[in-house]
Amino acid sequence: MKIKYFQYGKGLKKICFVAGIHGVENTGIQIALELMKFLKNSNLNYKAGILPLVNIEGALKETRENPVDGKDINNSFLNKKPVSLSDSEKIAQYVWDIAGEYEWIIDLHSAGFARYLPHVIIYEDRVIEDVKYFGFPFVVKRKTGKSGNRNTFLAMAAQKGKKACALELGGGQTVFIEDINYGMGKIINFLHYLNLPSGPKKEKLIKTDPDQIYLRDCRKIIKVPHQGLLFFRKRLGDEVKKGNTVAELLDTADFKLTKLNAQISGKIVYVRTKNNINSGETAFMVLAKRGGDNKGR
Ligand SMILES: [Zn+2]
Repeated sequence: MKIKYFQYGKGLKKICFVAGIHGVENTGIQIALELMKFLKNSNLNYKAGILPLVNIEGALKETRENPVDGKDINNSFLNKKPVSLSDSEKIAQYVWDIAGEYEWIIDLHSAGFARYLPHVIIYEDRVIEDVKYFGFPFVVKRKTGKSGNRNTFLAMAAQKGKKACALELGGGQTVFIEDINYGMGKIINFLHYLNLPSGPKKEKLIKTDPDQIYLRDCRKIIKVPHQGLLFFRKRLGDEVKKGNTVAELLDTADFKLTKLNAQISGKIVYVRTKNNINSGETAFMVLAKRGGDNKGR
């Protein structure tokens, strides 16, 4: 299947959006489709590119990886070219050949069988001053970056000196319509910050509170100890204290319920949306309450 690429506007290649590198991340894909409508009807003074669905096979089969070779396309961006490329490496190469020509690369993701509270992920400090103008409630800098050895899209962008970030936009298998409207609003805010589209700027651009820019990954990830059915007692976005019960796990063999508690105080930023869960899979994530205390500096 051929991966579709769309380009809008005239002039410099300013910004490229890439979605669906992971197959079960439908909020990113739907936002890419909405962006195509928006950009088509905008007066663009730069070129904007969109690759709305990279992992077509994965999207159809509901797998994060590329079903053709079982690999994660977002771990297939190779700096050195081997003699032969796997299908995922070929796809990553195709994506890079297009996106790598733009000044900005925005990689659209979402949770898989879960829902994220929308936010920005960065690898490098140098883009903080820009990405705060999406206006998302928080920004997290993840460990893997220029010095990391993982072959991710963002790591490649860092190596090549491109400005890049990833957006976690909401639900994966299930799309929540409010996440689409919310994410679109934030992306349009960022486009106005970059002066794209041209025309009068919004009076006041929203930006992320400096206290909510996490320079180290302060998410506490709670995985389940055994297979079972997961039932939540708190909602995505709820503030919890250390020790609060967030969910319960039913063991279908002995019908015992195990409490899954928050291990730190903070905000629930990720909840699984699929009730059946296997041992070792993630039930929820809590982000430490105050970025200011957790900058790692
Ligand atoms: Zn993803």
